[in-house]
Amino acid sequence: MPSESVITDLVSIIKDTQEHLNYLNELGVTNVESGVQSDVSPNKAAALEPTETQRRVLLDSYGVRGQDLTTNVVAAEVPASVSQRSRQSVIAPPQDFLFGDLAVPPPIIEKSFESFEQIWSDIGDCTRCPLHQGRTNIVHTEGNRHARLMFVGEAPGADEDAQARPFVGRAGQLLTKIIESIGFKREDVLIGNVNRCRPPGNRPPTPEEASMCQPFLLREIAAVQPEVIVVLGNTAMRNLLDIKQGITKVRGQFQDYHGVKVMPTFHPAYLLRDPSKKKETWEDLKKVRDYLETTPRRES
Ligand code: URA
Repeated sequence: MPSESVITDLVSIIKDTQEHLNYLNELGVTNVESGVQSDVSPNKAAALEPTETQRRVLLDSYGVRGQDLTTNVVAAEVPASVSQRSRQSVIAPPQDFLFGDLAVPPPIIEKSFESFEQIWSDIGDCTRCPLHQGRTNIVHTEGNRHARLMFVGEAPGADEDAQARPFVGRAGQLLTKIIESIGFKREDVLIGNVNRCRPPGNRPPTPEEASMCQPFLLREIAAVQPEVIVVLGNTAMRNLLDIKQGITKVRGQFQDYHGVKVMPTFHPAYLLRDPSKKKETWEDLKKVRDYLETTPRRES
């Protein structure tokens, strides 16, 4: 009979596999070929056969029938990386430091009680930077104003400028799929940009243009206090964090913005140009999902 830890690892594999298939499906992949050969002997497979109770748990939790499990899923030994993942999901216990009592927690972003409408009314019919000359609409942050998770991009493109909504073009559709791949709906999260007016030819905003617009984004962040912000690409990352390195070096590693966890990852427009980078983005987003799943919701 398999031990509880084998079952836990199997459940983890099944969950990961289902999520990954959902993600690939969302991204339009219709066929996945397996290059992996099972080297589990029939005896080993039999030894991993789940009990009736375990079958019921798997069926209830993940819609997996016991026979599916033994024929299709058990056919691989639990990879070390999976056991490691379960261990990594556990929040590390507090460490004993010398002078531990004096340890100062990182400064938490101060909660503001402004509404988005107040912030937007300050933005007004903005002419603070030259980008206003080419815009049709100012594109404000949208989504759940009590969100735990926020995504920040660079600046609106043509579709966003026309519809006055962030991330609604091709890159936006991919972002929506990425959000759904980690179990959220687009309307659960907050989505914004460093700049709210479309730069000509979709070029990145200059540092001066970004510095004019950024205070309004920071005010929205202070009002919502998301627990995790995913910064999409170099422009967003460098505007929120004091980081000189590029996104390729820093992606996948949690950073800090005044007590808010920040995950840098590739911009979806870049993923459209180089789909091979979707795998890394998926790894980064799984870290975000795991953090939010294992961390109790912060009181506001
Ligand atoms: N790219 C961005 O950075 N933001 C958008 O809103 C759309 C595309």
